[in-house]
Amino acid sequence: MRVVQVEVSTRCQLRCVMCPHTIFSGEWINEDMDFETFKRIPFDRFDLAHLQGWGEPLLNPRIEEMIDLAKRNCRVGLTTNGLLIDEVNVGKLDYLAVSIASAREDRHREIRKTSLEEILAKVENVSSKVDVTFVFMMMKDTYEELPNVVELAKKVGAKSVIANNLDYVPSKELEDQAVFLRKVDYKPIELAKVKAKELGINLIVKSVEMGEVLVCAENPIDNVLITHNGLMTPCVYLHLPTKSEKIKRVFMGRELEVEKVYFGRFDDEESWRMYRDFGSVFERRRSILWSLFPSNIPPLPDCCKTCYKAYGV
Ligand code: SF4
Ligand code: SF4
Repeated sequence: MRVVQVEVSTRCQLRCVMCPHTIFSGEWINEDMDFETFKRIPFDRFDLAHLQGWGEPLLNPRIEEMIDLAKRNCRVGLTTNGLLIDEVNVGKLDYLAVSIASAREDRHREIRKTSLEEILAKVENVSSKVDVTFVFMMMKDTYEELPNVVELAKKVGAKSVIANNLDYVPSKELEDQAVFLRKVDYKPIELAKVKAKELGINLIVKSVEMGEVLVCAENPIDNVLITHNGLMTPCVYLHLPTKSEKIKRVFMGRELEVEKVYFGRFDDEESWRMYRDFGSVFERRRSILWSLFPSNIPPLPDCCKTCYKAYGV
C-alpha cells in the first residue's frame, strides 16, 4: 500500500464552523493515540505516513517522537491548523500542510475563530525549514478568494496551495456552502491558476462539478486510515470519533445516518484481508479502464454511494 493516514489526536483547540468536531462537540471523543499503539503500526508497508485524521495532530504530546519513528520507514507529513508549528520541530517533516479558511482576517476569524495574521506569521517562520502547502477549503462565501490565497502563499514562503471542497457536509445548515452544489463562477479559479503560474506556486483545485469516479481520491486500494484507537478504515468519511455508532451526513439535500465502517485492529492480519476485500471493489471498477471488452462497472459500496468523494469533488 502507499499511504497510511494515522489519527494521532482527535482533540482540537479550535471550533471551526464547518467541522464535525464543533457540530458534534457534545458527543466527541477527545483522545490522543498512545505511543505504544503508534509504535506497532507497520510503517515499512507504506511509502508515506500522513499523521492526521479528525483533530489537530500537533496536540499529541509525543508527536515529535512519532514523526521520528515513522520517518525511519517512509516519508512523513501532516495537516495542521498552524497554531503550534512554532512549538514543534516541523522541520523533520517531508511536508507540512496548513489549513486556512479565508484570505481575509475578518472571515477567517468568523470561520475558524482564530487569527489569520497569526498563522501567516508562524508559517513565514518555518517555511524555510519545511515544504509548506496551504489547504484552503472552498466554500460559497470564500472560494472567490482563491487568487488571494495563492498570493498569501507566495508572501509567506508556502510552495503549494490545495483548494478542497466542503466534501463532508455534517449539517443541513452547511449544505448551502458546498460550491459544487451550485452554479459556479469559474473566473476566480481561472485567475488563481494564472496567478499561481506567475508566482511559481503549485496549485491544485479540486473539481467543483460532480461526476461519479471509478476510484475516489481517498483510494482504498492503496491507502488506509488508522484511527486514534487503532482501527482500520478507508477514510475519515466512514469514521467519526463520536459516541454514536452512526455518522450524520447530508447528501444532495437528504439528511442521512450511515454506519461507521471499521475492519478491525491494524495488528490483526485478518483485518488487512478484509480491508483488501473492500479495496478490491474499487480495483475492479478501475480495471474497466484497461479492459478490452468492458463489462458493467461494479457498483460503489453502499457506504460510498452517498459520499461526495465518490463523485470526484
Ligand atoms: S482546526 Fe481542523 S479539526 Fe480543529 S475545529 Fe478546525 S477544522 Fe476541525
Ligand atoms: S467514496 Fe467516500 S466513503 Fe467511500 S472510500 Fe471513498 S472517501 Fe471513503
